[in-house]
Amino acid sequence: MKLRRTSAIAIAAVAALGLAACGSDNGGSGGAGATGGGGESVKVGIKFDQPGLGLKTGATYSGFDVDVANFIAKELNLKPEFVEAVSSQRETLLKTGQVKYIVGTYSITDKRMADVSFAGPYFIAGQDLLVRSDDTSITGKDSLAGKKLCSVKGSTSAVNVQKAVPGVNLQEYNTYSLCVDALKSGAVDALTTDDTILAGYAAQEANKGKLKVVGNTFSTENYGVGVQKGDTEFCNKVVTALKKFIDSGEWQKSVDKNLGPANYKPGAGNPPTPTCQSA
Ligand code: GLU
Repeated sequence: MKLRRTSAIAIAAVAALGLAACGSDNGGSGGAGATGGGGESVKVGIKFDQPGLGLKTGATYSGFDVDVANFIAKELNLKPEFVEAVSSQRETLLKTGQVKYIVGTYSITDKRMADVSFAGPYFIAGQDLLVRSDDTSITGKDSLAGKKLCSVKGSTSAVNVQKAVPGVNLQEYNTYSLCVDALKSGAVDALTTDDTILAGYAAQEANKGKLKVVGNTFSTENYGVGVQKGDTEFCNKVVTALKKFIDSGEWQKSVDKNLGPANYKPGAGNPPTPTCQSA
């Protein structure tokens, strides 16, 4: 009886230890396609619907952010189990310990640093517009008057565009792929977010000849790896891994492999020098 009670307590204690660390033999849903280290299983937030960056295809994960996430895991001897981190949920996922870290086109901002810390930047992007290929009226943020625009809840893209174009007619969806559907159906006239994300959609087979990136950026997006606020030790380890990713040439290889097909060329300042950034 005593033994049973002890093991029940042990099980409860393990369960209470937190959701981000799941034990080394966890064969969770995100295991396939994840090629990180072989040690402790950790939940890692990525995007599931952004081609070239974070894309889930069946049980396979691909993209530049996925490579970054796997490289960090390998360096830290962690076994990543990928979970979807949509833009508006990222701070919550980290704060509640549902993920150990997030690599998901996650811009470093002062506002977000009230809730999380960042290792980065590891990439610099810029906000742009995606329109239908036959649209000649939208040439940049200054031609959005009277247009219906789509972006995503909890993104810097939604905040930036409302600041840049006061009164703009903006619909905020949950994911960028929903905005792409709305753009193709004619429900909106443009999708605004990072040029990296837009290039990936424009290059998708289903969108070829239908959608184009305007090519007139109006923000600077410094991508960081989101970690729990104040976890300086882990943050510094991630920074070391990111530096190795960049210095070893893996960064360039991954950019060429994942963003090359969309003809995306990283802009000035890339690759950047990551540090641990905390408020
Ligand atoms: N990088 C921007 C952000 O972190 C837009 C892309 C996204 O929503 O992931 O808000």
